[in-house]
Amino acid sequence: MSTIALTKKAMRLLELCEAEGFETVEDLIQASMTDSVSPAICMECAHAAKMEPDQRAGYCEACHTNRMVSGLVLADFI
Ligand SMILES: [Zn+2]
Repeated sequence: MSTIALTKKAMRLLELCEAEGFETVEDLIQASMTDSVSPAICMECAHAAKMEPDQRAGYCEACHTNRMVSGLVLADFI
């Protein structure tokens, strides 16, 4: 994986925390672990939605791509 992709992942993860009202990535992970759905974000347009915790290619209703990734995946937690 290239450095650019990693940077974008980290950026989206931070955007997701902000969109969902979490102060830190750890807060987001902890909240996601106790729920059946996890905050997810679109790698294409940064649209946020709730998805399965292991989602890696979810459908984005905003830009109609399959680029929604859950916060747990973005954080390399699962
Ligand atoms: Zn999108």
